Amino acid sequence: MWERERFEREVQDLYAEREAPDDAYAALSSGRLAWKGASPEQLAFMRLTYDAQVRRYLDGRRLRFFDTPRDQLDEIESGQLLHRDIIPDCRALLAEARRKLAEDQVRGDADALSIKSFGVGNGYRSASEQLGLWQKYFPRYYNDTRARRLKAKGGEHGQEAADIAAEYISGWLSPPGFGNHVQGRAIDVFARMSTYRLSASSAHIPAWKKSWLHRWLVNNAGRHNFVPYAKEPWHWDHVSAKSVQPSKAPAQASSAAPASGATNAATLAWALAKGERDENKLTDIVFRGRHPELAGRVLTARDRGLVQEWRSIRDDIVRPYLANQAAQGRQQELPQAGLDRPPRLLGGLTREAWTPPGSRRRAALSYRFTDTDALWLARLLVGEAGGRNDADNQAVVWTLFNRYALFTHGVYPTFAQFIRAYSTVLQPVLRSWGAAQRHYRSTEFVRDPSGATYAHRGHPEIPQGQLRRHLELQARPWARLPEGARRLALEAMSGRIASPVGLASEFASTFIYYRQAHNQKPTDEQWRDFTERFARGKKWVWVGDRPSLNQKKNAFFIDARAAALPEGTVRVEPV
Ligand SMILES: [Zn+2]
Repeated sequence: MWERERFEREVQDLYAEREAPDDAYAALSSGRLAWKGASPEQLAFMRLTYDAQVRRYLDGRRLRFFDTPRDQLDEIESGQLLHRDIIPDCRALLAEARRKLAEDQVRGDADALSIKSFGVGNGYRSASEQLGLWQKYFPRYYNDTRARRLKAKGGEHGQEAADIAAEYISGWLSPPGFGNHVQGRAIDVFARMSTYRLSASSAHIPAWKKSWLHRWLVNNAGRHNFVPYAKEPWHWDHVSAKSVQPSKAPAQASSAAPASGATNAATLAWALAKGERDENKLTDIVFRGRHPELAGRVLTARDRGLVQEWRSIRDDIVRPYLANQAAQGRQQELPQAGLDRPPRLLGGLTREAWTPPGSRRRAALSYRFTDTDALWLARLLVGEAGGRNDADNQAVVWTLFNRYALFTHGVYPTFAQFIRAYSTVLQPVLRSWGAAQRHYRSTEFVRDPSGATYAHRGHPEIPQGQLRRHLELQARPWARLPEGARRLALEAMSGRIASPVGLASEFASTFIYYRQAHNQKPTDEQWRDFTERFARGKKWVWVGDRPSLNQKKNAFFIDARAAALPEGTVRVEPV
């Protein structure tokens, strides 16, 4: 259970560390960054991105830490260090997990038997080590964000491009001085399997989620004060670190409020990770945690104060927390209870081994579509393309398959998550502040209940939110989507539709762009010319005339990076 006194002491220590000497700041400044072989413009962009990411974290009131003094650290195992305070919890966690693994192996549990050993692969990382990692991985993220940066106002190396890159990198790496590894309060676990090693890599996410170790940790790590991080199944935070992360101004830090707020957040994160979504049950969990003395006693009308407290936990803590979770898309699946669902058995998206530019990993992809993927794809077809099952929409579907298989599967663990991020109509809240700015005064606009704004993009005056009709589409059950959209989603995901556009991964309405630019409709020749020039500017290749398609509605393009690959590189294998 939580010890408030210890929490307060920790917070004070942490704020004291904030008063770091100037040379500590200098050691982490963007001026330190180097990029071998880069042009001066690219290096300047690297530094701009780094500063933008640090600002994002500071704006979010995240605390920055400097190298932790060696006498506050201890070895947990295999040379990995952790903050002294969390060593006992971590040791107990590892010991219990190893004991349980041995027991399950004796019982002949196949999942347990596939694990040879496991341990802490990474614990404490100093801010200076983080700087080295950031510098090492930046070129990869630079390539990953290229297409989006090219569309940014101010060009691929401007401020908006830097903000795009900073946001993207934040999904993978904290800037030096931030995050729980730099405090020695987080662990990345690894597992040695019979034929490979499960480690901290996005390519391993599906395998992690199926592993005995991850399942055991999800169900038991909480008893040792470790909480999961949804995006990285190998990463576990100690709640002492989580508790100092929430946005609290230093002046409030020593009051009691943040302690209980932090405990609530950790408790809720924990319950959500175990799959609890019911607001009453979640409220109970927090409430019972605060009142162990009730020992499960049912409240009656005479407990007026307690009932009031229960309600305020539900209204002020649980509901905003759930709204915020949903808004951030952290819940992999929205509750669909009682709705007709598409069939569970769908085909698999496969990609031959290749090495995407900017990555050193050469790997094949094999991804099994789920009923959730089909549901969201059918919704996308309705929202973006009218929901019909025709050749133009088949081309749209294949463009999304190709894009996911070739470029974005490392960023989004599921196809549904990818299209929800990609498509404006499926985003939980509009990602683009420009789109929100156009709509937020309209009655169609529903503000994010957490009150979030686009402050991180420099627009604190624009509230985050989404259009009512988009939210309605996002909630529409399978059975109420047009039959054409349902059939197209299922047929495509079962391998029954060949790609009408080869490996195209982009589409754009060049006919409309031309009309906007010239105030008149293009002739066939003008449109063709314009489409080819547009493609060159994006480093894409137009697929050319395809008799079955009306490309004046949507023209299809192959990313130049994939143009040399054979057509069958991406396939959907039947069930
Ligand atoms: Zn980690």
